[in-house]
Amino acid sequence: MLKEHFRIVRGGASFRITQNRNPESINQMPESAILSSRPRVLSGMRPTGKLHLGNYMGALANWVKLQEAYECYFFIADLHALTTDYADPSRIKLNTLDVALDYLAAGLDPEKSTIFIQSHVPQHAELHLLFSMITPLGWLERVPTYKEQQENITGKDLTTYGFLGYPVLMASDILLYQADFVPVGQDQTAHVELTREVARRFNSLYKSAVFPEPDALLTPSPKVPGTDGRKMSKSYGNTIGLSESPLFWGPKIAAMSTNGQRIRQTDPGDPDLCPIGDLHKVFSAPELAEETRNRCRKASIRCEVCKAAVGKSILDLILPIHQKRKELESRIDETWEMLREQSAKAAVRAEQTMLSVRNIFDLSRDLGSVRRYFGTSAEDIKNAHDLSHHSSWWNLPQDQRAKLLRDYWRSNFLPRDVQLSQESNRVFASLDRELEEPFISAKKKRVFVTTSRDVNTEDKWNFEIPSRSYEVWTLLCWRSENKWLHDFVVPQKIFSQQFALAKRSMKKDEKIQVTVTRVEGNHFFLGVAGQTSRKIDELQSNYEPLN
Ligand code: SF4
Repeated sequence: MLKEHFRIVRGGASFRITQNRNPESINQMPESAILSSRPRVLSGMRPTGKLHLGNYMGALANWVKLQEAYECYFFIADLHALTTDYADPSRIKLNTLDVALDYLAAGLDPEKSTIFIQSHVPQHAELHLLFSMITPLGWLERVPTYKEQQENITGKDLTTYGFLGYPVLMASDILLYQADFVPVGQDQTAHVELTREVARRFNSLYKSAVFPEPDALLTPSPKVPGTDGRKMSKSYGNTIGLSESPLFWGPKIAAMSTNGQRIRQTDPGDPDLCPIGDLHKVFSAPELAEETRNRCRKASIRCEVCKAAVGKSILDLILPIHQKRKELESRIDETWEMLREQSAKAAVRAEQTMLSVRNIFDLSRDLGSVRRYFGTSAEDIKNAHDLSHHSSWWNLPQDQRAKLLRDYWRSNFLPRDVQLSQESNRVFASLDRELEEPFISAKKKRVFVTTSRDVNTEDKWNFEIPSRSYEVWTLLCWRSENKWLHDFVVPQKIFSQQFALAKRSMKKDEKIQVTVTRVEGNHFFLGVAGQTSRKIDELQSNYEPLN
């Protein structure tokens, strides 16, 4: 849509096109198959004002069908509008509302799709900025529409950073929701490629799988001629508005050129060379279209009758849209409220992606694990162990708390000369997988650091250890009374017999249960898989095995 519709133009590289899920085939899919899996679809339009028949037939009518079978996100791309209209943003909000009304009048349903405003989900701008760090300049300069639009759109200075970067913003829009498909017309199949390239680059740079590569979803995109015979487009001033009265557009159709066909009404014509013939193909019932085409060829219909017939076909299609829009216009506040609610809903989904992305860029908003105790005095050590000031940590979801404590331990407990890194800087999209990723010591020992899942306990903590071999386990647990964090650095070899025994009786992927028990004040015992416990006092805060 860079003009009115999403356009991402990159030539060359190959990518998959999904043809078996176009709206026609949707109708043939069994309902259960459709409902059981709902791939995610995303698309949007720039708020350039009221939509026209070209927008409707090329995109909106398809979206209305797609929302029956897909999890759909449809947005109003107001930030995109600013890439070209930055000098006069005075109509952005009004146009946004107009597009929203047309979306709803045409049949987009907030019960079925998420319909939102791009700028109301600030994660779009955030991801755009982060993607701009990794997108090579050459990719953008080679986008064909970059030069094309600079030449075609006169009267606006488009030599701006924002205009060059609009394909990155599009990639952000799509990838933010981890969309599976982007609906495009036959002539736009190349437009999804830049997004796929950005996803590939991100995943490969950070060895992650955060972003699936979206596919182009082919949707019907018939050629809709404007009232001057050229493609219908606002920039040509030849549109028929979805909500425009027939009193305005009727005379425009009547005055349309037949492109040289049937100058004399006794001459036979070729409807394939006449824009009215094209309008019939798009808007008339197949029987009527066929009949008028035949009669055109035989000169048995007058052009004004043919034009009136296509005008009637258009009117039949858009009259219900007009009526719905009139109703909606009388309750503008409801539409605005819907957009606010749906934007908040979209932001929740977007934030899920951004949590992973921020994590990868080490931009987590949680500063809890950052090193805060730099000294080695008794006071510093006491401060590091005492977590009673961090009451908010205990309300976090278990996995987040586990990650926070693990990072906190690494930053605040380890002496400066002990270096633990993550294996080959791998970053995982899944928190579960990340929590099982061992750290690597300077001497290449594999160190598994894990936290107890028990929060409200004073004297017994349970741990689960994957049945893989690590040289060292580090067990973190805390007392509910004073939130004192204990750490035990356990060389696996001390428990190798118990470990091997437990492993023998385990199923694949089962985890070994390890228990730390506190007895008689501050003595600690460790048991592996219910076998005899062993005292581990000397392992507490003993970082020797990590050197
Ligand atoms: S009959 Fe219809 S299709 Fe044929 S030239 Fe006239 S307006 Fe065009």
